[in-house]
Amino acid sequence: MSKNGEGGGRRLAVLGSTGSIGRQALEVVERHPSRLEVVALTAHSNLELLREQALRHRPLLLGVTGEEAGRRAQQELAGLGAEVLTGREALEAAASLPQADLVLNAVVGSAGLEATLAALGAGKRLALANKESLVAGGPLVLEALKRGGELIPVDSEHSAVFQCLRGEDPGEVESIILTASGGPFYGRSREELKGVGVNEALAHPTWKMGRKISVDSATLMNKGLEVIEAHFLFGLPYERIEVVAHPQSVIHSMVRFRDGAVMAQLSLPDMRLPISYALSFPERWEPAWRRTDLSGLGGLTFGELDRETFVCLDLAYRAGEAGGSAPAVLNAANEAAVASFLEGRIGFTDIGDIVKAVLERHRPAPLSGLRDVREAEREAAERTAVLIGKR
Ligand code: NAD
Ligand code: MG
Repeated sequence: MSKNGEGGGRRLAVLGSTGSIGRQALEVVERHPSRLEVVALTAHSNLELLREQALRHRPLLLGVTGEEAGRRAQQELAGLGAEVLTGREALEAAASLPQADLVLNAVVGSAGLEATLAALGAGKRLALANKESLVAGGPLVLEALKRGGELIPVDSEHSAVFQCLRGEDPGEVESIILTASGGPFYGRSREELKGVGVNEALAHPTWKMGRKISVDSATLMNKGLEVIEAHFLFGLPYERIEVVAHPQSVIHSMVRFRDGAVMAQLSLPDMRLPISYALSFPERWEPAWRRTDLSGLGGLTFGELDRETFVCLDLAYRAGEAGGSAPAVLNAANEAAVASFLEGRIGFTDIGDIVKAVLERHRPAPLSGLRDVREAEREAAERTAVLIGKR
C-alpha cells in the first residue's frame, strides 16, 4: 500500500507508540491492514521497540522526544526509509503530518498538550488517549476544536459515554455516570494504605496499563482526571458527572437521561475495543477482540467510593469547579508526586496530601494560551518539589 492514501485505508499517526496504548493500537492496525496504515510513530526513549515497529509498519516519519534517545536517534533509526525528527517539534510534526488523516495521541502526561493542539490545528481527527492534555488545557482544546478538527475519546469510560450518546439529543441528558474499578486498594482504610509499595500500587485488578496511570488508578486520581476530561468532552457541569464503583470493569460508563433511562456500554476490560472504535468511527469493525459472554460473568456489582480515604477524587472535582489554571496545577502536582512515588522517594498517601497542599495554595487564573498552562505547571512543580523534599 502506498502512503499517499491510494490504498484507501485511513492513514494514522501514533504518538507514544511504544507505550501500553500505542502498542495495543498497533495490534489494531495489524488486524485491519487494508483499513489502517501507519504514517508516523513517536517514542520518548525506547528506540529498540520504535525501530521494530518501524520495520513492520514503514512509516514516513519517526519522532523521538526524549533528550538522551534523541542524540542516538539518527544513527539507530537509519536505513528505515523514514524521516527522523527529535525533540518537542517531532511530536507536533507527527501530529500535523499532511499525509495523516487520523492522529492517536497516546503520550502520557501533559507533555501531550502541544500535540493535541497541533493535530486539531491541522484539522485532523484526533483519537485522544492522553487525558492529561484535556485536564491541563481543556479551554484551549475547546477553542482549537471550534476552528477545526475532531475529537474522539479513547479512554474506555469516555468511549462508553460517546457510544451511549450516539443518536441522542444532548439536551435530554441528565448526567453522565463514570464507573471506577476502585483500583487495587478498593475497600482499604487510610491506615492500611500508609505502607503500600510501588508494586502493590501497580497491580491493577482489571487493567494492565502504563505505570503512571496505574498509580493514578490506585489513588483514584485517574477517576478525578476522567471527571475533568468528561466535563470538557461532553460539556456537562461537574454536578452532573457522577462516579460509581464497579469492581468488574465490564460496564465502562453510563448516561442517565431525563426520563429515567440509563444507557450503559458493556464489554470485557480490553483497551483494544475503545482504541479500535476511535479508529473505525463511525463504523464498527469485526471481528470483535473479545466476545462478552454474559453468562460467564457471574455478577455485576456497584458501590460507593471512599472519598475521604482517596482524597484525589474530590481534589479533582474541586479543581475542575475552580476552573482556569486549577486543573493544570492539580495535574502537574500529581505528575511530579507520582514520579517521586515511583522512585520510592515518598509514600503512597503522600501523593494526595501533596497535591492537596499545592492546590490549596494556588489562586486559579483564566488560561489564555499555552504559556499560561506551562507557567501554572512550572509553579506547581516547584511547590511540589519543595513538599517532596520535606518528606
Ligand atoms: P505508557 O507510559 O505505557 O506510554 C506512554 C508513551 O508516551 C510511550 O510511548 C512514551 O514513549 C511516550 N512518552 C512518555 N513521556 C513522553 C514525553 N514527555 N513526551 C512525549 N512522549 C512521551 O502510558 P499508557 O498507559 O499507554 O498511557 C498513555 C495515555 O493514555 C495516558 O494519558 C493515559 O492516561 C491514557 N490511558 C491509558 C490507558 C491504558 O490502558 N494504558 C487507558 C486509558 C487512558
Ligand atoms: Mg479510563
